[in-house]
Amino acid sequence: MRTDVQSSALSKSKRMDFLFMAFIYTLIFVTLSYVVFFGSTDFHRTGLVGFLRRKLFSVSHLTKSTFEKCVPAALTGIIRSATTYLLFKRNPCIQLLYGFLMSGGTAIYSFKVIPYFDKMNTFSIVTYILIAINVMLFLVCCTHDPGVIKVTNHTEYMNDYNPDGVYYTTQECSTCKFIKPARSKHCSLCDVCVSRFDHHCSWVNNCIGKKNYKFFLCFIISTAILCVYGTLVTAVVFGYIVLSKGLITMNYEAYDGKHYPVGIRFLTQYLLVRQPLLAILFLVVLFFGVAMTGFSLFHFYLVLTNQTTNEFYKRHYYGKSHPKLSRQSKIVSSQTEKTMIRTTRRRTLTRNKETSSRTSTNDVVATEKLPSPRTSTPYYIGIWRNITEVMRV
Ligand SMILES: [Zn+2]
Ligand SMILES: [Zn+2]
Repeated sequence: MRTDVQSSALSKSKRMDFLFMAFIYTLIFVTLSYVVFFGSTDFHRTGLVGFLRRKLFSVSHLTKSTFEKCVPAALTGIIRSATTYLLFKRNPCIQLLYGFLMSGGTAIYSFKVIPYFDKMNTFSIVTYILIAINVMLFLVCCTHDPGVIKVTNHTEYMNDYNPDGVYYTTQECSTCKFIKPARSKHCSLCDVCVSRFDHHCSWVNNCIGKKNYKFFLCFIISTAILCVYGTLVTAVVFGYIVLSKGLITMNYEAYDGKHYPVGIRFLTQYLLVRQPLLAILFLVVLFFGVAMTGFSLFHFYLVLTNQTTNEFYKRHYYGKSHPKLSRQSKIVSSQTEKTMIRTTRRRTLTRNKETSSRTSTNDVVATEKLPSPRTSTPYYIGIWRNITEVMRV
């Protein structure tokens, strides 16, 4: 039996427009993001993506200067102050956005999703546990000391790492007035030097460094799990709505008066119109689920190779294009490897003395895994020790 869905608002032509425009906007957003974030890498700098990035920035500068000439100076000053505050000062705006997204998402979940699962069942309990863990980790990241270097603990941090001679040399911080410990960086937003500086995270309004990186890692992983789980649960609800109403077997009447079978495009728009809050929740958790999964994988890679985001950025954005840095990097890299081999041989000799073993030194050296040139970073000490270095308290 054929069932018709009357829906003038969801006519064929309009739904085509809507889905096509949604696709175009998504494509433009993804392309622009890629060009802005990856256009300055060594891989893209001299290619089309690098060219597009340069053009994009020149257009943006031109627009900015034209805008400044057209509007009153007082308004330009207010906009500039607001931009400086939002982008270059430590502020709680993104923290508030997190609070808004989390409380809004929880409210929509509680009032729009849970009723489909017969009140409190395993699905809803797991979600609330994931939300609680995520909020707790967020608060820890916001408040935990990232490893701020002060005069009182400077010596302790100086002993953590040796300068590699390329990215870290014996250099004084012009603000803090002490020698910067290797792998540390002065955060211009927090105005402090931070040990094993990773990056300044606007979401938690705090630096991510030696002492809170493990919490940050747990936070982004828990966000990825929460969003992926939320996406699946919302998709199940959508599936329930479609199946319980028998929408798949229906037809709808278009503007031309003809009847068409309901397809995935019609269902998508039907759910967007009839369940807007659920649709918003689904799109938000889907977006953050994909983004945070990718971000977590990137940080897994950083942990396994014993790099910080700051060091990764330096290696990939400045490393190869800076001839001096590149040459030094090779020298230091080979020096680091030589030092590691010498250290390994020394350890082996000591071990041989202790055990009176006749094992060849070279054989033992061969069994000690040295990093391959592709994965080696100045502070690489083996995968397992890289992980324990990050996770230790
Ligand atoms: Zn400093
Ligand atoms: Zn900071």
